[in-house]
Amino acid sequence: MAADAAPISNATELSKSSILCLSCGLCCDGTLFAHANLIPEDDDARLQANGFVVFMNKDKRAFRLGCHHHQERRCTLYQSWRPDVCGSFKCKLLQRMERDEISLEQARATVDEALDHSAQVRAQLDALPGVTYQNVISAYAKGKKAEQPDTLPEGFNQAVLNYLALQIRFDRFFRPPRAAAENPAKDLPTNAYDNLKSDGRIK
Ligand code: SF4
Ligand code: SF4
Repeated sequence: MAADAAPISNATELSKSSILCLSCGLCCDGTLFAHANLIPEDDDARLQANGFVVFMNKDKRAFRLGCHHHQERRCTLYQSWRPDVCGSFKCKLLQRMERDEISLEQARATVDEALDHSAQVRAQLDALPGVTYQNVISAYAKGKKAEQPDTLPEGFNQAVLNYLALQIRFDRFFRPPRAAAENPAKDLPTNAYDNLKSDGRIK
């Protein structure tokens, strides 16, 4: 158990926001982001004691994601000391729920759909011989300029398309505007998600 870990209290005491985040974790497990920035007040000794891998991201300290404190869709440090960003970050979905634009049930359904979609993409990739996740990300991010293996297996293009659809889903429902703007999917027409959905390529 990590140095600052404490048990999570009875679910009936938790706010709607906590219930949502403790059944999601997409911002912790490396799915939405590869790292999280730290603030000066985040204490080096506590970061080290809790096993965070700290590095310099341009001029800011950051730690790598997926986070090893994320287990079975929940943060095992939820009610203990955590880096500031862990308590302050709110994705688009959480913000919408807190503004009462959507219910907890609707928000959880959106998380479940994203998790299903992510698992589907992973299964598609795992079924492709000789193709790495990086090959697909490269094809997605760089298009025709991407370096790829000489022979691409059948199903590669569908996997890239589904990966693209997944990133559009994350940008649309989860990533804040700045993070979404850094995503290559930003160049897609704004109706790309609706087109993929009406084609039946995403649920
Ligand atoms: S992605 Fe959103 S809903 Fe999921 S854990 Fe992070 S802040 Fe909470
Ligand atoms: S400490 Fe918890 S909230 Fe922070 S990144 Fe790790 S799993 Fe997520």
